[in-house]
Amino acid sequence: MKNKAYLQCIIPSCGRKYSVDDVRTECDCGNLLDVKYEGNFSKKLEETFRDRKNPRENIFNESGVWRFRELINFVGVDSEDANGYSKIFVSFDGAEGRTRPYEMSKVAEYVDMPKENVLFQPEGLNPSGSFKDNGISTGLTHAKMLGIKEVICASTGNTSASLAMYAANENMKAAIYIPKGEIAPGKLSQAFQFNADIHQVNGNFDDALRVVLNRGREGAYVMNSVNPFRLEGQKTIIYRVLEYLDWDPPDWIVFPRGNMGNCSAFGKAIMELCDWGWIKKKPRFVSVDAAGSNTFYRLYNGLYKDERLKWSGGEVNEKLINEFYDFLEDEGIKPKTNATAIQIGKPVNIKKGLRSLDFVDGISVQVTDKEMENGVAIVGNNGFDCELASAACVAAIKNLVEQEIIRKDEKVVGILTGRLKDPQMIVDYRSHSDNRFANPPKSVIKIR
Ligand SMILES: *Cc1c(COP(=O)(O)O)cnc(C)c1O
Ligand SMILES: [Zn+2]
Repeated sequence: MKNKAYLQCIIPSCGRKYSVDDVRTECDCGNLLDVKYEGNFSKKLEETFRDRKNPRENIFNESGVWRFRELINFVGVDSEDANGYSKIFVSFDGAEGRTRPYEMSKVAEYVDMPKENVLFQPEGLNPSGSFKDNGISTGLTHAKMLGIKEVICASTGNTSASLAMYAANENMKAAIYIPKGEIAPGKLSQAFQFNADIHQVNGNFDDALRVVLNRGREGAYVMNSVNPFRLEGQKTIIYRVLEYLDWDPPDWIVFPRGNMGNCSAFGKAIMELCDWGWIKKKPRFVSVDAAGSNTFYRLYNGLYKDERLKWSGGEVNEKLINEFYDFLEDEGIKPKTNATAIQIGKPVNIKKGLRSLDFVDGISVQVTDKEMENGVAIVGNNGFDCELASAACVAAIKNLVEQEIIRKDEKVVGILTGRLKDPQMIVDYRSHSDNRFANPPKSVIKIR
């Protein structure tokens, strides 16, 4: 099965179309692009996807990304022809996307919800340790389809880890641009381990991304979430949530806000499924900012100049965004949080993010580093690990239940975006008796 794919500007009043063979991450009008497919997709595919859970020695059925290949088939290969697609789909031997939601009883108790109503999907179980593998496998597939040999990205750590891993595996070159001193040691070591070309930027992530986007305009292949082919892979995070719930959407889906790639991809997944008639109910999104890096929270909730930033059918108030960024610059305010994965001041997918939240009636909240630390610990008490940024969703759910915005009889799914790559943070947290879930060593045993 194949539906012809093309690129289209996200702004309805522009709507320009481009070929999927183009290397571009923006429309001539400067806005972002979507991958679009002609025609419709039959809900019968749900059975096909479930059937592939018996992989029959096909790694592309094992992959939680390519198991849904009909819905992300921008390559336009026959989805039943394993010989054909195995030459082009990029996969880490089927290991990416093998995740699903789990009940976590201790976390449920902590957020004060019945355990069957609050589920968490640990994307840290991906081969490079974060959800990024969902998107890099499809993004790199597009690069491979065009015969590209070198790809680049800016990163807060997990994108570079994932890209470096996949590129090494595909014998491609990865050049990564990272803010010096601002990424977790475990993530940095992955870039070294997978032998990427590392460029350290003396600045923050937003500065590093600007460098990369400029290189992109000169023709380099950019693998950040402005790449619409990457976001196609990230849609499968939602497919797995829905499949687990028999395609009956939850009331809420909660996730941390960085560059808003997930917000964009998750929203696109929901919009398409509604469009094709697979689902009727729209799960509401909760996009969670770190309090120390809360540009989106402030803009979306009208905490700057009393005006709420909205999608408005594509007529987004860019002036408000730019004024706010200038204001931050003038005041010398830089995003600052220990959750470095979401220490992003200028989310590049902001318009797509707004479109998603508009479609699903989403909200934006903020949580403190301390709340995230407690979240990491309580997830740990359930036998899972996640990094600080990921625990933003635990903290947000707790607050929203307290505020009665999330009701206890509603169904909530939190996306734990990545696993722990800063082990010292945990040792410090558990060792320090002031912390809510402290658990210092019980004794020191002297051996003579
Ligand atoms: C990249 C990343 C994020 C941010 O995701 P966006 O899609 O950019 O909003 C959040 N958590 C972790 C662990 C990440 O690696
Ligand atoms: Zn356009």
